[in-house]
Amino acid sequence: TSFGFKEVREEEKSRMVGNVFSNVASNYDLMNDVMSAGLHRLWKDRLVSKLNPFPGMKHLDVAGGTGDVAFRILDSVNSIRRRAMQDVLEDDIQEETKIYVCDINPNMLNVGKKRALERGIGEDKSLLWVEGDAEALSFGDNTMDGYTIAFGIRNVTHIEKVLSEAYRVLKHGGRFLCLELSHVDIPVFKEFYDFYSFSVIPALGELVAGDRKSYQYLVESIRRFPPQEKFASMIADAGFQQVEYENLVGGVVAIHSGLKV
Ligand code: SAM
Repeated sequence: TSFGFKEVREEEKSRMVGNVFSNVASNYDLMNDVMSAGLHRLWKDRLVSKLNPFPGMKHLDVAGGTGDVAFRILDSVNSIRRRAMQDVLEDDIQEETKIYVCDINPNMLNVGKKRALERGIGEDKSLLWVEGDAEALSFGDNTMDGYTIAFGIRNVTHIEKVLSEAYRVLKHGGRFLCLELSHVDIPVFKEFYDFYSFSVIPALGELVAGDRKSYQYLVESIRRFPPQEKFASMIADAGFQQVEYENLVGGVVAIHSGLKV
């Protein structure tokens, strides 16, 4: 039948993810710090240093939420630009940088815009906020130098669609980078991590955000996400080359990357 079990589950999943991020938007940044003990900041730094941003680049940060990754990219571009200005290498910096933050949830984007204002980059023309679905992007083919998705792909309905959209919008020579909670495979550390995620995280969710269920759901979604090797092969199946990944904190998170040749 066309209205089978799979469709019902997918619809429910989309709705659930929508609810989760509407409920958590205002507490989102605080919860990230609490749950990861501030480590998510270092992981995002690492993601952006692997990206190697440059002035003039066109970049798409998908599931960009409240702007954490985009702010880092912009900081990196601006510091290169300042250095270039000192060296009077201004020819290189004529072209305009565009960093698009794309997210399906307007609440998250609104928190992001507010944060940009607070950081004094609310008027920066390089930063653009776009409401949109990772599975059906509104950007043209071969338009982006870089694509990042941080803690976003785990919650989408069709990972394959997200990957093929990433491939489509990237220019030849463009890089795909994905930061995601992944799988720990180290004895003892794994037991500790399981305890932390199944017991501590939902309790923290309740305590800090008054929302145990959303955080329980997030933990379960980590377990359902494909392990590092499997996810790498999905990236390759989407057409990317030089696919590799780096585990951080024993696989608590992994950064996968691929190149559109
Ligand atoms: N990248 C940000 C960060 O690292 O702080 C936000 C990550 S947050 C855990 C996940 C984000 O994915 C949410 O803002 C949610 O709205 C967004 N999201 C979920 N499904 C999406 C989809 N299909 N397309 C675009 N964004 C999506």
